[in-house]
Amino acid sequence: MGHAPGLICRSCGHHWPEKEFMLMCPECSTPLEVDYNLEELHQYLKRGWPQSNDATLLKQWEKLLPLAYPELIARCTLGETQTPLIPANKVGADMGLNDLKFKVEIGPTLSLKDRGSSLCSLKALELGFEAMSVASSGNNASSIAAYAARAGLPAVVFVQRDVSPAKFSKMLAYGAKVVRVDGDLSAASRLCRHMCENQGWFESGGPNPYRMTAKRLVAYEIVAQMGGKTPDAVVFPCGGCAGLVAAYSGFNELMSMGLIPKLPKLIGVQLTACDPVTQAFEQGHFEITPVEKLPSFSDALMNTNPYWGTRAIAATRDSGGLFISVKDEEVAAMLVKLSTEEGFFLEPAGAVAVAGLNKILNENRMQGLNQVICTVTGHGLNSQEKSIYKKMIPQPIPPDPAKVAEYLGI
Ligand SMILES: [Zn+2]
Repeated sequence: MGHAPGLICRSCGHHWPEKEFMLMCPECSTPLEVDYNLEELHQYLKRGWPQSNDATLLKQWEKLLPLAYPELIARCTLGETQTPLIPANKVGADMGLNDLKFKVEIGPTLSLKDRGSSLCSLKALELGFEAMSVASSGNNASSIAAYAARAGLPAVVFVQRDVSPAKFSKMLAYGAKVVRVDGDLSAASRLCRHMCENQGWFESGGPNPYRMTAKRLVAYEIVAQMGGKTPDAVVFPCGGCAGLVAAYSGFNELMSMGLIPKLPKLIGVQLTACDPVTQAFEQGHFEITPVEKLPSFSDALMNTNPYWGTRAIAATRDSGGLFISVKDEEVAAMLVKLSTEEGFFLEPAGAVAVAGLNKILNENRMQGLNQVICTVTGHGLNSQEKSIYKKMIPQPIPPDPAKVAEYLGI
């Protein structure tokens, strides 16, 4: 038997043993969290950061995760590991930053979602669930479909009407039952919650405490990869805002244990086509007013009423960060820069954080930034049908050196 700390409500202090799985506190509706003993985690980390050595994420961070049956890890992994932290070659210098690094959050199913899905599939098995489910704009549905297939569980995934065919291909390939809801992501999320409550499926997105606790490890990874240092800022693309909120929780744990002296400034970036959190942040509110989404070249990040929006605003304010929005054309320009100057081929949402950082620096919205980490997420193959490169596919030329020279203009 491994480590099964159960769940806690941070608002009213109620604790539940882990076999009583719930997403929200029945007393006060606060999302539940894994009830770690920070002193135990601290004692473990005093021996040094766990080495990656190509270990899967769950294996590397086993002692910091709630794994009652760690022997199930092999059944619930697709080889997801600690993600790389790569220094920018040119993009950082062009922004006037001394030290910009990319945290490349692209897992086995080509997005950042695998970080949470591996643990979700393991907990679904441990807790005896017979099916997994999630509502998603595409990447999370694909990821849950893959990890459910790996764990030998059926998956029922709920997606909004507009999803890229490439993402449909992924989730269908993994054998999930795909429910395409005639509506937006909020409608798909409400339907997913209802069906999970009535059918007893393991809801693996939104407020799932195990997804959040796996996602918090991005903070541990960053600090470990920087040799115990804290960057000035970490920038996240924000739709549902779970990534930023989970990272905040990880950085807070590290600070509580005295392993970092301060929080990095947490910066959330949304697309102007759907930016309810930026709007609330700029108006000085914590409550999110749902918006209608406008047309965008991205299907991801189109969350009209994000579950973690209020918490994300609190996290950015507490850390001295901010929310900002970027237009499609600003992201498109950054996509080209990141592929041609850095070698990263990303879907639109994958470049949103870097486009947001560029805008913050151009508009002088934040001072004192030197060492910054930008998360890049979502592989370019996730949205090929909207790719600008489709129109650029060249005509075939005869296999003749003279024709090659003519074609290349050399
Ligand atoms: Zn409560």
